[in-house]
Amino acid sequence: MRGTLTRPATTPDWLLNTLTALLYCAAAWLGERALMLELGMDNVLWPQPALALVAMLLLGARVWPGVLLGALLAEGWRWSGQIPGAEWLAPTLGTATGILVQTLVGTWLVRRHIGPGHPLDSFGRCLLFCLIVAASTLLGTLIAVSTLYLAGLTPERMLLARSGLWWLSNASGTLLFGSLLLNLHHHGWPRLAREAWYELLAYFGTVALLTASIFVWWHPTMDTTYPLDMLVLPLVAWAAFRFSSREVSLALLLITMLALWGTRHGGGPYLGFSAYSTLIILQTYVGILSVVALCVAALMSEQRRIKRELGRQQEQLEQQVRIRTLALEQSHAEVVALSRVDSVTGIANRRSFEESLDGEWRRARRLGAPLGMLMIDIDYFKLYNDHYGHVSGDYCLREVAQAIRSSVRRPQDLVARYGGEEIVCLLPDTAEDGVAFVGEAVLEAVRDLQLPHAGSSVAAIVTISIGGATVQPREVVDSRQLIEAADRELYRAKQQGRNRLVIAGRNGDAAEGGR
Ligand code: GH3
Ligand code: MG
Ligand code: MG
Repeated sequence: MRGTLTRPATTPDWLLNTLTALLYCAAAWLGERALMLELGMDNVLWPQPALALVAMLLLGARVWPGVLLGALLAEGWRWSGQIPGAEWLAPTLGTATGILVQTLVGTWLVRRHIGPGHPLDSFGRCLLFCLIVAASTLLGTLIAVSTLYLAGLTPERMLLARSGLWWLSNASGTLLFGSLLLNLHHHGWPRLAREAWYELLAYFGTVALLTASIFVWWHPTMDTTYPLDMLVLPLVAWAAFRFSSREVSLALLLITMLALWGTRHGGGPYLGFSAYSTLIILQTYVGILSVVALCVAALMSEQRRIKRELGRQQEQLEQQVRIRTLALEQSHAEVVALSRVDSVTGIANRRSFEESLDGEWRRARRLGAPLGMLMIDIDYFKLYNDHYGHVSGDYCLREVAQAIRSSVRRPQDLVARYGGEEIVCLLPDTAEDGVAFVGEAVLEAVRDLQLPHAGSSVAAIVTISIGGATVQPREVVDSRQLIEAADRELYRAKQQGRNRLVIAGRNGDAAEGGR
């Protein structure tokens, strides 16, 4: 699985160890050939400790026998070629032990202080990784050089120089090749758009051209020491800004190989020194370039990750705001609806009635249609309260209101509580006949409830009195006149004995319905 340091569960340990040993030997053999400055000298960079570290980081500490076997074989082959007799055994054991110890310590430190993720994907982790590589390779180098000293193969005055040289080869090689392997493992094969591939090609072309110009084609005279080797830094930054740390690692490899090849063939700014100095300068150059480039790449990938995360969080936040807004709109609509309903009767309240009256009045005036109204009042309701109590009074009021509402059929008709126990019906587009028809239906509906009313002197049940009126809003100035007319007729209904309907303008003066 990419991104985590895990060992393939199904591969047996002996196979993993054999493969590690073989790859270690192959890396050492390639290093001897490709990374050498002059024949017979130590090579500039050691790729094999990098392979050991990455193998242990990715596959686990159980590949230590593979690392030890590979180191013993590779170092034995190297030392037996340099030292005759059986004396090659001590440096072989010492160097192999140094490699094993630095790999184990490096892996332990990375696991402990960086954790299981990609060690090069944030600035802090990358810096720590560089430090761990520097420290662990120093330990391995000291073990190896001490063995050489104890075996009498390195004189005391050469100890510091030899340690420095070995450590630089060891640390720079581990950093360059280790980061390359880790970046390739964690980033995998690039999935880029066509334009990005062109840019990638252009990028590596430019890196190759510029590095070759500095290290292969440029032959400086003795007294010119321009720092042209620093020109590659902006190119490394280009890869960090536009691509990933994988491209930065590949660019570092290309620059290193060209710098080495050019220097070996007599080009570049590092000539004119002794072979030993050139070796140290090249190692230092590769080491410092690697640290700077890897840290810039890590910084950029960290920034990209934070940007992505911020974008994701913003998207989530916007989604939450949308959900909250919707909920708020819904509850606002509910509040508005509730603010138009009377809590005792469940029908529209006075405010809602006034808004509707205003709208219907203007609509009727525009269309030239009549507007009808019924003003309804419960008979002897005060006595009802006195006799049954206010709780029963509320219940009665609600029953009467609901009965009235269910007997008014048209969708545009409105039944609202006008005052205490007065209920009003607004009947758009309804003339006297219509008003009378609805009024009769309402009267009948309340009677059908058969609610007992012991205090009433008109009936043994709850009854209502209704005043009805209708006007042509085109001919009348104010909607209040309609209310007054209906109220007047209600008063007349009360006066004429209650439990009846009186409508203005019917049968000459007023029409009455009743028992
Ligand atoms: P009338 O036949 O002349 O209308 O006699 P009435 O007793 O009904 O007289 P009026 O209309 O003046 O009385 C209104 C009474 O309605 C007063 C009050 O006790 C009662 N009332 C008004 N609002 C409510 C209410 O919300 N709940 C209850 N239980 N009673 C109410
Ligand atoms: Mg009343
Ligand atoms: Mg009243």
